[in-house]
Amino acid sequence: MTKKIIKNGLLIDGNGGEAQKNAIVVTDETRIIYVGPEANYTATGEETVVDAQGGTILPGMIDTHVHMMMEFSPIAQRLETPFSYKFYQAAKYLETTLHAGVTSVRDALGTDLGVKKAIEEGLIAGPRLQLSINALTITGGHGDGYTVSGNVVDLLQSDYPGMPNGKCDGVEEVRKRTREMLRAGAEVIKVHATGGVLSATDHPEFTQFSLEELKVVVEEASFRKGVKVMAHAQGAEGIKNAVKAGVHSIEHGIFLDDESIELMKSNGTYLVPTLLAPVAVLETADEVGMPDSAVEKSKEVIEYHKASFTKAYESGVKIAMGTDAGVFKHGTNLRELGLMADGGMSPMETIVASTKSAATCLGWEDKVGTIELDKLADIIIVKGNPLEDIYSLADNDTVQVVIKNGKVEKNTLA
Ligand SMILES: [Zn+2]
Repeated sequence: MTKKIIKNGLLIDGNGGEAQKNAIVVTDETRIIYVGPEANYTATGEETVVDAQGGTILPGMIDTHVHMMMEFSPIAQRLETPFSYKFYQAAKYLETTLHAGVTSVRDALGTDLGVKKAIEEGLIAGPRLQLSINALTITGGHGDGYTVSGNVVDLLQSDYPGMPNGKCDGVEEVRKRTREMLRAGAEVIKVHATGGVLSATDHPEFTQFSLEELKVVVEEASFRKGVKVMAHAQGAEGIKNAVKAGVHSIEHGIFLDDESIELMKSNGTYLVPTLLAPVAVLETADEVGMPDSAVEKSKEVIEYHKASFTKAYESGVKIAMGTDAGVFKHGTNLRELGLMADGGMSPMETIVASTKSAATCLGWEDKVGTIELDKLADIIIVKGNPLEDIYSLADNDTVQVVIKNGKVEKNTLA
C-alpha cells in the first residue's frame, strides 16, 4: 500500500550521468528501494503507480541559502505585522517552496527549532530544514539593523525564545554567540564576513570580523560533529579571511579574485552563488519597498557577481545551488538553474549543483540529493525535459509531483 512505482518518465538521478529512459523508481514508506529497468523489478501488486506521463523524474531539489521566516516587504508593513503572524506567513512560504520542487533547504538565518519540529512532526508542510538559527554579525555590520536615526530596524526580530541575538565583537563574544546558536539548535553556523546589499550602513566590499574571530567560529562549530560554517562574503578580503579561517561555504561571493578562487579550490570551499538575489531585488524593488541604497548596490554589483560566478565555475570551484529566497518571493528558487546556465554551466551541471552537490554541501549526501537505493524518497516529476529547457523549471506549474520522505506533497498529474 505504501509502496510506489514511479514510471513512464526520463530519469535524471542527480549524479550527472546520462538521463535514463525506461527506468522506474520504487519507494517504500520513506526510502527508495529500487531504481532500474522496469523488467528487472517484480511487482508485488501492493504498489501504487505514479505515472510520470512522459515527464522527467528528478531528485528533490535542494536550496542551500534561504530565509524561510521572511519575505521582504515595505517597512511600514513590517512595523504593523504582529509578531506571531510571521509564523503563519512562514507556513505559507514553506509550503510554496516545497511545491516548487525544493525538498531540502539550508536556512541562512531567522528560523528557529520550533519551525523545523513542526515540519518534522507533520504539523505543517515544508522542505527538510538545516538551521543556522541566527547569523553572527559585528556591530555596524551586515546584520545590524541600526539606522542613523537611532532606530533599529532588523530585517528579522531576534531576542525571542529560541532566537538569540547574533551581534558580537571580539574573540570571546564571538565564541559565546556561536555557543548560543548551537544551544538553540544550529546545525550550521552563519557568519557575516563582509557588508552586503541590503544593509544600509555598509557596503559589500567592507570586511567584517577579523581572521581571529572567524577562526574561533570555525573552531567552536567543529567541536560539534558535522557542524560547518557558512559565510556571507562578498568583498575579496572578507572572502579570503573566511576561507583561510576554514569556513565550509562562501555565500554570494560577488568579488572573487584569482587568489580567493585558488584558496577556495585548495580548501575545498563551496561557492553558493545566489545569482537570483540581485536580479529579483531589482525586479521587485518598487513592489516591496526596497531601500534606494539596496537598489543602487544591486545595480553596482550585479555584473561583477555574474563574472565571479563564471570565473569560479570555469576554475573548478565546488558550487552548490542557493538563492537567498526570502530577500525576494519564496517559490521562485529554480530560476537559479537558468541563471547558472547563463553563467556557463550545462543544464545537467545546474541540476547536479541543485541535487548531489547541494546535498554534499549540507553534509546530507548519505540521505538525499540523488535517486539511489536506500536514499530518502525525495523525488519530483517535472513536465518535459529540463535538459532541453532548463528555464522551464522557473515556472512552478512545470513541477507536477513532489514527493518528500516517501509522501506525496503535490500531484497535479492525478
Ligand atoms: Zn541571505
